[in-house]
Amino acid sequence: MIPSARYAEVVLPVPVSRAYTYQIPDGLADHVVPGARVVVPVRRGAVVGIVTALNDQPSAVNDIKPISAAPDAEPALSDALLGLGRWMSDYYGAPLGLALRAILPGPLWSVARPEGPNEAAERVLVITGRVESLLERERVFKRSPKRRVAYEAVEALGGSAPLSHLVDRLNLSATAIDGLVRQGLARVDRVAQTRDPFAGLSSPPPPTLTADQQRVVAAIEATPAETPVLIHGVTGSGKTLVYLDLLRGVVASGRGAILLVPEIALTPQTVARVRGVFGDQVAVLHSGLSDGERADAWRALRRGERRVAVGPRSAVFAPVQRLGAIVVDEEHDASYKQGSAPRYHARDAAIERARLEGGARVILGSATPSLETLDLGLQGRIATFALPERIGARPLPPVEVIDLKTASRVPEAGVIPWTEALDGAVGGALARGEQAILLLNRRGFATFVQCPACGDVRSCPNCAIALTVHQTPAGMRCHYCGHEAPVPEKCRVCGNLTQRLRGLGTQQLEHFVASRFPAARIARMDLDTTSTKWAHHRILERVARGEVDILLGTQMIAKGLDFPNVTVVGVVDADTGLHFPDFRAAERTFQLVAQVAGRAGRGPKGGRVFVQTRSPDHHAIRAAAAHSVEAFAAAELPLRTPPAPPYPPSVGLVRFVASGRDEARTAAIAERVAAWLRRAGTERLGGALTVLGPAPCPITRLRGLWRWHVLVKAAEARALGRVVRAWRSKSHRAVTVDRDPVSLL
Ligand SMILES: [Zn+2]
Ligand SMILES: [Zn+2]
Repeated sequence: MIPSARYAEVVLPVPVSRAYTYQIPDGLADHVVPGARVVVPVRRGAVVGIVTALNDQPSAVNDIKPISAAPDAEPALSDALLGLGRWMSDYYGAPLGLALRAILPGPLWSVARPEGPNEAAERVLVITGRVESLLERERVFKRSPKRRVAYEAVEALGGSAPLSHLVDRLNLSATAIDGLVRQGLARVDRVAQTRDPFAGLSSPPPPTLTADQQRVVAAIEATPAETPVLIHGVTGSGKTLVYLDLLRGVVASGRGAILLVPEIALTPQTVARVRGVFGDQVAVLHSGLSDGERADAWRALRRGERRVAVGPRSAVFAPVQRLGAIVVDEEHDASYKQGSAPRYHARDAAIERARLEGGARVILGSATPSLETLDLGLQGRIATFALPERIGARPLPPVEVIDLKTASRVPEAGVIPWTEALDGAVGGALARGEQAILLLNRRGFATFVQCPACGDVRSCPNCAIALTVHQTPAGMRCHYCGHEAPVPEKCRVCGNLTQRLRGLGTQQLEHFVASRFPAARIARMDLDTTSTKWAHHRILERVARGEVDILLGTQMIAKGLDFPNVTVVGVVDADTGLHFPDFRAAERTFQLVAQVAGRAGRGPKGGRVFVQTRSPDHHAIRAAAAHSVEAFAAAELPLRTPPAPPYPPSVGLVRFVASGRDEARTAAIAERVAAWLRRAGTERLGGALTVLGPAPCPITRLRGLWRWHVLVKAAEARALGRVVRAWRSKSHRAVTVDRDPVSLL
């Protein structure tokens, strides 16, 4: 037998990477193992930490205190999840303490109740004394006929029943029940009960797969599990049915699975579809759960009582036992990226976790895969399977691109780009009792300069990013490298007078549409109208019931909606997103337009899509109009590859953001970060880094803090890894580091 270790290395949920050494008291030795939670004393009180290693010798010479408690019978983190925490810390340059904190749900970090929230228990009345014969019964219950009624009711229910059921539903007397207990004929037990707000949800089992879907399922099952797969299915091709069929095979083989969906897609319908296949084996991890519900779902998975976890980003950490597969639905969705440290991407974390679990499969799915994923496909590191047709062979809707420079507009619309063509289509749909969806890209905040005649947009010569107009000091600025230029009066291409453009808001659009179509019932969906729990879901239910004629909103309305009566989809202004100061502006616009176009023509009436733009020849618009991811990637990838200014996926990218109350000081910090990076690049990494900036972030000020950023690019992932790990050890609080950022605003 190995002599038991006397010291434990414990990582605390704070922004530091180092472990602290604690002594293991004899009585706790069985429960202090790597991955276990322990309560340890710190300077001010106590905290919950995670054991990362055991030692015979103390690794530090400081004053070593004993561990005070070890509440886990089984370690909270498996080896694979502990490994995933280490990977996140190393890859994203996040302190290990924060990486581990992200993996366990909040309630399990409470030092006041280290065992986690109490498990919900139900009080159950159990008959303990038998009163067999009728004569005896008459004797025992002689003076209390109500006790006899209660006794016989429980007897009829099999000898035990929840108290709430007896009292609330059967209206039995609580006094009589107490009497039974006093008489020694029954006792009250507490029985653990999992709180599951989704317990009642279920829809009928899914229909049989189409030939196309069956072919994809078979091909994926024949692919080695260690190769991640991408299901590239057009909108309406039934990707979810394919996921569920694959997961059914996984669960039937005795393994567990995780299904990741974007937060906004985690609707009761989604849950019902999954429960329709897996029933009570499903644990839903939703951000709206209470602490108790969250802890219950986590514990049920950890014990193997539930085997399928469904949830947004953080469900990638679900403690599913014998994990066999992770599905990442809508893998291109920006919500998979965590906005605070550790800034992980759930898709990449899923791939790493599957590797650590050994033999688990990763299944990505999208109608508009990210360029990163497409690129991995081109390199052969991901196997791609196509679902090129909609269910029922319904055609994808035709997309009409309307050139805002020349198309005739409705005069009453004023500043709102509202053409006769879109007006006629929306009016026609309303007259026929059909529905319309209007997308307004995003609330604009960055003003760019465009020529109204030829559509040319001024961009930075170094970065190929649209320049943004500033008032003070007056001029145009690049938000990547800081390049400045005067605001041009005339177009550099055709000599026409230029125009300053700023995106208009969804509220303005709603006002206009309401006055244009006074009889129409309009619903608006954006961040302002969906801040409460399930709010977006309630709006969509109204659309589904036909209580809304026009649904308008931001990118929220582009995803996953399936309304057969929607026959017209209009993208009111595709340009705000197209000329965003972000290298992914074209990709986002392509995905958004292609996705929202996919909302039309879901039913037998068919549908049409109208895209209004001043850049009708832009490859993002053309490819979206053709529903062609391939065409988009073929045009976009060269624009991110040298000799063009390189961007992911041809290089890796890390963003450093300095923020502070004082503008000059913040800029100076960013200046020092850039200098440190340039020095590291030349002295340590053989010139492997390209450093851009510092420059003010496109969102220059946020919640009272000035923001400056520095971008670092490198073809070698290893060089960026060394940079973020070197930075992690400096732990500079005014600067955040974001590897593989999805937003550069
Ligand atoms: Zn021009
Ligand atoms: Zn630039």
